[in-house]
Amino acid sequence: MSQQTFNPARFDAALTRQWQLWGLSSAQEMTPQQWWQAVSGALAELLAAQPAAPMATDQRHVNYLSMEFLIGRLTGNNLLNLGWFDEVKTVLAQYDVDLSHLLEEEVDPALGNGGLGRLAACYLDSMATVGQSAIGYGLNYQYGLFRQRFDDGEQKESPDDWHRESYPWFRHNSALNVTVGLGGTVCKEEDGRMRWEPAFMLRGEAWDLPVVGYGNGVTQPLRLWQATHAQPFDLSLFNEGEFLQAEQQGIDAAKLTKVLYPNDNHEEGKRLRLMQQYFQCACSVADILRRHHLAGRAIADLPDYEVIQLNDTHPTIAIPEMLRVLLDEHQLCWDEAWRITSQLFAYTNHTLMPEALERWDEALVENLLPRHYLIVKEIDKRLRKQVAHAWPGDTEKLAKLAKLAILHDKQLRMANLCVVSGFAVNGVAALHSDLVVKDLFPEYHQLWPYKFHNITNGITPRRWLKQCNPALATLIDQTLNVEWVTHLDALRGLEPFAEDAAFRERYRQIKQDNKVRLVAYIDRVTGIKVNPHAMFDVQIKRLHEYKRQHLGLMHILHCYRELRDNPHADIVPRVFLFGAKAAPGYYLAKNIIYAINKVADVINNDPLVGDRLKVVFIPDYRITAAELMIPAADLSEQISTAGYEASGTGNMKLALNGALTIGTLDGANVEIAEQVGEENIFIFGNSVDQVKALKADGYNPAKVRKKDKHLDGLLKELEHGLFSDGDEHAFDLMLESLTKNGDPWLVLADFADYIAAQKRVEALWRDREAWTRAAILNTARTGMFSSDRAIRDYQQRIWQVKR
Ligand SMILES: *Cc1c(COP(=O)(O)O)cnc(C)c1O
Repeated sequence: MSQQTFNPARFDAALTRQWQLWGLSSAQEMTPQQWWQAVSGALAELLAAQPAAPMATDQRHVNYLSMEFLIGRLTGNNLLNLGWFDEVKTVLAQYDVDLSHLLEEEVDPALGNGGLGRLAACYLDSMATVGQSAIGYGLNYQYGLFRQRFDDGEQKESPDDWHRESYPWFRHNSALNVTVGLGGTVCKEEDGRMRWEPAFMLRGEAWDLPVVGYGNGVTQPLRLWQATHAQPFDLSLFNEGEFLQAEQQGIDAAKLTKVLYPNDNHEEGKRLRLMQQYFQCACSVADILRRHHLAGRAIADLPDYEVIQLNDTHPTIAIPEMLRVLLDEHQLCWDEAWRITSQLFAYTNHTLMPEALERWDEALVENLLPRHYLIVKEIDKRLRKQVAHAWPGDTEKLAKLAKLAILHDKQLRMANLCVVSGFAVNGVAALHSDLVVKDLFPEYHQLWPYKFHNITNGITPRRWLKQCNPALATLIDQTLNVEWVTHLDALRGLEPFAEDAAFRERYRQIKQDNKVRLVAYIDRVTGIKVNPHAMFDVQIKRLHEYKRQHLGLMHILHCYRELRDNPHADIVPRVFLFGAKAAPGYYLAKNIIYAINKVADVINNDPLVGDRLKVVFIPDYRITAAELMIPAADLSEQISTAGYEASGTGNMKLALNGALTIGTLDGANVEIAEQVGEENIFIFGNSVDQVKALKADGYNPAKVRKKDKHLDGLLKELEHGLFSDGDEHAFDLMLESLTKNGDPWLVLADFADYIAAQKRVEALWRDREAWTRAAILNTARTGMFSSDRAIRDYQQRIWQVKR
């Protein structure tokens, strides 16, 4: 497979067609936004006209089902993967248009919340790049993740209208339309078969975005389903003058893919959310079967050709939907429908936290999806027989059923349905996969040990190094002279250069330039002036108690206290950078944001501090902000309570770009530490086993506080309104969690060791050469976190295994 050749004449002709369509008389009349539209539209047209690159035919085709794809801006990334960046830049320069400026016009398609959605996007990039034939299936939300701003430190949300109707990369093909039913009843036919008569019909439209492989000529779709009404307009009602009523059904359908649910690691059990999930699954299953039939293949052979990877339990309804189609439409018997289905589905678990594990009320499922409910009952019934067989003793059997059953306490447990019905289950980092077996599904593991796997997450080096950190990419090119972008392990070749003073100087200068670039951005979006020579200490991720942004805050308070106690202290100057959105209904998380912003206000304006400490909460954290912050980071904060961050991928992006990690032994931090070496990472805090032991012994944060006068003093400052103009209740939600409510995430328990680790950070920072050496080794040794490696792991361990 080879790179697609760029044809400047055809590009120019396509570009001309774009502005002519808008009725302009020359390219010069285009606004910057129109330039972005026109260039992207022209590229999309060229790309669509390219012949398809041949794909391997001996591997199963992957259907990656995810409710979220956090893809970020596409135009720059597609240009880079196509290898057309420089050519297009040259063409545009002839028009006096700067390509980099033009790329800034794109609004991020933010069709995801955080790590889970970004993972799906990285995996699509890698599947195209390693030549794994695949389709990503998701939803085309009209509004992505909300926009965030701060109003006197408080998070305010507004809708994220990313203008999907004019997004130039979409290709829509109405031949792919699907009809989806909802509600209604199930009737039994004379021959005993079941027939579902839905109450409503919706139409699913396929809106495809191109996923471009890096330098290999591969393009495959990310297919996003959009809901509309099944009948465009009921003309009979129109004649009777009731046309407004005729619109009614259409309005309801359009609601379905109106907005992304803004929860990360938390499920609400809302009816509309279940409708979204089913809509996405029904459309995707229908499309998979359509392609299979079109290829002239027998239904019995489906699992030989297709695999369906479920990104968390959000698309689990695809399982009973597949069974329904096989049973009711293809008229297969249960055993055959089950054989096919159970060889088709693989499930990725992303969390152990109970509040994030999906459970749907049986009554809701029965009401919305009566046929699927019956199918799930049948699966559950057969499972119960198996359990009775495996654990014959009555009391033992009942205990196992309480954990293993799919239907339990009037709820449908989606993770259980996945493990029972699929052929593979994987966790997303070694530690997490162990806990999936030991803590979440030990009984399932007893029944089917062969189903369980670990696939450590990865990130695409295209976006997260080559594109976001072009200067470092160029340095690596010049130093290694190998194609590291698709063979990230080759970065190991940089190891000896850690000892090369001239190389260190160049590496350091690149980091410095990236920091200066970020300083300008900070000034532009917040008006805060920060010192580019300070350490950039970065915590960027969704706001969640388990991620412990408030532990970071406690360290900031500690530094401020140190300065007030000793104004001339020779402290390491730091800029603390945060980026995080809190789910709109997650009040405690919003209170943590408020606390950080209020503390920032005081510290940033204290003349005693000067520019030795600054605290900046970058508003509206998203892919585009991450692409600026990650290359500029010196220190990466990965400080979740051990056992709760399944993997993390922000940790990987930062380490790859030469930030040193301060972190707990959680998720992929463990593997990052193994790779970079313990002298090049700052590990602290209670381990998973220690966390469990503390909780078992009745952990009491009040005792910790009482013993630690310094910590007590910091908490008192918050309690007494020092950072909230005397308001003693400003941070109640956060403080009550840390004290009265038992500090469930062990912030106080880890505080002292965290501060000690920060002291080690400072000691290393003061030795510039040693710090740079460690940073280089982080870049050199994090090649295994390429999502190309992760995809190859999926291929070898899950997708291509002959059963
Ligand atoms: C990588 C990424 C995440 C995930 O970060 P974690 O630290 O792993 O939680 C979230 N949001 C964005 C925008 C990202 O790029």
